[in-house]
Amino acid sequence: MARLYEPDSIAVSAAHWIDGEIVEAGGASATRLEVVRPSDGKVHAQLPLADADTVDRAVLAARRAAPAWAALKPRERGRLLIRFGELVSAHAEEIGRLESVVSSRVQAEAGPIDVGTAAEYLRFYGEYCDKLEGTITASGREAFSLVAREPHGVVAIITPWNFPVILSTWKVAPALAAGNTVVLKPSEMTPFSMVRIAQLAIEAGIPAGVFNVVQGDGPVTGKALTTHPDVDYVTFTGSSQVGGRIMADIGASGIKPVALELGGKGAQLVFADCGPLDTVADHVTWGVTRNAGQLCYAGSRLVVHEAIADELVERVRTRMLALRPGATWDDATTLAPIISRKQVERMTGIVERALAAGAECLTGGEAFEQEGGQFFAPTMLAGVRPGMEACDEEIFGPVLTVETFADEEEGIALARAGRYGLSASVFSRDIERALAASRRLDAGTVWVNRWGRTAEMMTAPFGGFGRSGFGKEAGRQGIEGFSRQKAIWIDF
Ligand code: NAD
Repeated sequence: MARLYEPDSIAVSAAHWIDGEIVEAGGASATRLEVVRPSDGKVHAQLPLADADTVDRAVLAARRAAPAWAALKPRERGRLLIRFGELVSAHAEEIGRLESVVSSRVQAEAGPIDVGTAAEYLRFYGEYCDKLEGTITASGREAFSLVAREPHGVVAIITPWNFPVILSTWKVAPALAAGNTVVLKPSEMTPFSMVRIAQLAIEAGIPAGVFNVVQGDGPVTGKALTTHPDVDYVTFTGSSQVGGRIMADIGASGIKPVALELGGKGAQLVFADCGPLDTVADHVTWGVTRNAGQLCYAGSRLVVHEAIADELVERVRTRMLALRPGATWDDATTLAPIISRKQVERMTGIVERALAAGAECLTGGEAFEQEGGQFFAPTMLAGVRPGMEACDEEIFGPVLTVETFADEEEGIALARAGRYGLSASVFSRDIERALAASRRLDAGTVWVNRWGRTAEMMTAPFGGFGRSGFGKEAGRQGIEGFSRQKAIWIDF
C-alpha cells in the first residue's frame, strides 16, 4: 500500500469566502469546530462557524453581484463557466486532496472522478447558458404571451459531507448558468474543497460576490442562511430529517421556493433471468460499498428471486470480504472509512436491533478501528422484511439487506415498499420485464442491468419521489429549476 500524499502536509484554508476574499473570523463570537479525519481520527483543522452577521455579509455580497451577473449575455456567462471548469480540471489533484483528507472519499476517486465530474458539470452548464429557451403561447388572434425564464436572484445551497465536490457543483453550476448568484454552505465535516473551487471562479473571471462560501453547522449557519430574507431560493441535499426541518424553518420565516434532494433506500431487484451472476454481483456489491455505502443512491436492499438468491449472495459475500479497508490517502483502499463516530454508532444500533428482531447476519455485522480510523465491515442481513427498521430506514453504510421473492408480483411489491423513492435497479435480460418493472418502481431514477453512474448522470434529471424529496437536478430540468418563468402578454 502506498500513500498518495501525506495527510499532515495538506494545508487548508479554514475560512469563509465572501465577495472574492478569504474571511477568517466567524463573526464576533468566532465559535470553532474541530474537523476530524475519519481515516485516522486526528483533528485536521479548526473551522470558524459563520454567525448570522457573517451569513448576512455573504448574502449581501451575492445580492450586490446579482444584477450584473444576470444581465451578462448568456454566451459570455457560459464562456466564464467553461473557463472555470477548465481551471477546476487543472487543479483536480490538489482539490481531490482537500476533499479526501477529511472525508470518506478515497483520493484515487476524489481527484480524477469527483473533481473531474465537477469540472464537467461546470462545462456542461456553461454550454447550456444560451440554450435556456422560453416559449410563446397564443390566445386566438388578439394576444400572445412570451414566457421568459429569469433567475431567482440569490440562491442558498446547503450540501452534505458524502460527496462534497460533486454534490455542491451539481447545484452551483446550473445556478450560476441560469444567472443567479450563490451562497454555499458545505458540510461542517468537509468544508475545504469548495472554498478552493470558489477561489478558482475568480481566476476564471467570474466577478467577486457571484459565488460565496460560508462555513458552519446546520442550526446556526445553515438556518441563518435558509431563513435570510434576501435569499430567494434554497436548494438542499442531505437527510430527509434535516430537509423537513428546513421546510419548516422557511415556512415559519417567510415564503420562498425550496428544492430537496434527500435520503434513499435503493432496491436492487434481481430476476432469475438476470444474466451472468458475476456481473450482477459486481453491481450489487459496488452499489452498497462504494464510499462505504455512504451514498444517497446506494442500492442497499437486495430483492432477489429465490432460485438464484443463495448463489448471488455467495458471490456478493466473496466480493465484500475482498475489500480492503484503509485511509483515503492510501492507493490500495477499497473500503472507505465511516465519516464520524456518530454514524458508526447509528449503523451499529440499526444492525444490532435487526439481529435482535430475528435477522440473520450473512457476513460482517460490526464496526472496527484500524490505525485510528473507523470502519464498518461490509454486511449482509437476511430475514428482514418491510416494516423492520433495517429494511425501511436509510443506514448510510455498507449494509445490504437481502429479501427473496417467488414471483414477479411479489418482487415488485417488495422493491416498491418503503417511503424513500430516490433510485432502484432492475436486473433482467428480458427487456419487456425489465421495462415493465422499471415503470412500476417508485423511484426517480431506475437503472436497468446495472447500478449507478457518475459523470453521465448530468444528462438526465435526477431527484427523488416521496421521502427522497422533490426538485430535479442535472439535465435540462436541473438548470430550469434555477430559473422562474414569467409570462409577458402582448395584445395585437
Ligand atoms: P444532514 O442532513 O445531516 O446535513 C446536510 C447539510 O445540512 C449539512 O451541511 C448540515 O450542516 C446542514 N444542516 C443541518 N441542519 C440544518 C438546518 N437546520 N438548517 C440548515 N442546514 C442544516 O446530512 P449529512 O449527514 O451531511 O448527509 C447524509 C444525508 O444526505 C443522507 O441522508 C443522504 O442520503 C443524503 N444525500 C442525498 C443526496 C441526494 O441527491 N438525494 C445526495 C447525497 C446525500
